[in-house]
Amino acid sequence: MLSYRHAFHAGNYADVFKHLCQVLLLNKLTEKAKPLCYVDTHSAAGLYDLGTDMANKTAEYSDGIDKLLQRSGQYPEITDYLALISQFRDKDLYPGSPAIAAHLLREQDKLILMELHNNEVENLRANMGRDPRVAIHHRDGFEGTLAIAPPEPKRGMVLIDPPYEQAREYQDVVNFIQKLHKKWPVGVVALWYPLLAEKRNKAPAMLDALAKVQPASLFIAECWVKPQPQELGMYGSGMAFINLPWQVDQQIEQLLPILTSLLGQTGAGYRTEWLIEPA
Ligand code: SAM
Repeated sequence: MLSYRHAFHAGNYADVFKHLCQVLLLNKLTEKAKPLCYVDTHSAAGLYDLGTDMANKTAEYSDGIDKLLQRSGQYPEITDYLALISQFRDKDLYPGSPAIAAHLLREQDKLILMELHNNEVENLRANMGRDPRVAIHHRDGFEGTLAIAPPEPKRGMVLIDPPYEQAREYQDVVNFIQKLHKKWPVGVVALWYPLLAEKRNKAPAMLDALAKVQPASLFIAECWVKPQPQELGMYGSGMAFINLPWQVDQQIEQLLPILTSLLGQTGAGYRTEWLIEPA
């Protein structure tokens, strides 16, 4: 059963980090006029009203996007993302990854959005369905993406952003990427993952398994807002990339210290590593 609802978490520090990376990738990919395809395996609702009870139950956005908007002025590294977000935040909204992609992509590009949750896919249709560039699939994002891979056009990226509610999702991600990379070797892959308390953290084993798949390249960036707890909770998140476009690693490296200092508490930090260097 699917119980995760992204509206509780929209605009939190993990969303901010993921969406900053998404903006860097899409900005780089749209430098060339050639059309491209954006695939979201786990789209959720696409757009969030920050005035709702759901968003305000724990108001995670106030320690995420709102903190960044208040204290960001002097950082050109995050200006593009903040300019985009401000247009939504002014209307009490926060864009999810589908709305961010729709905003940055051009007329010649395509968006393929997968979502499995019955209610959430209706929200996604209501928020994104009128855009002629968008195809919405109510199906499992791993199965669905493999079924259409390689997409047309072949140039493009996939964002993989599962809720990790079930332990098996870590292995599902690795199996999926292994198959996808075979079918779509030129596709840029961006995977989000949580950094959890010491006793529950499955990210290191997942990254080891991913490296063993031997993709063309593998770059990771992690960012945490507090020290790792022993027992419970998420303290940060990571992104793993295959076929990361040239120089985007440096752009990510520039934004991490800014993000950590704007959003982090004592004990916050970040790291990047090429687990497999591009040939
Ligand atoms: N990518 C979105 C963003 O950044 O705005 C957030 C995605 S949210 C973390 C994860 C979503 O995946 C949830 O809406 C959940 O219903 C959906 N989901 C869970 N398992 C799925 C599956 N196997 N295939 C597609 N969607 C799934």
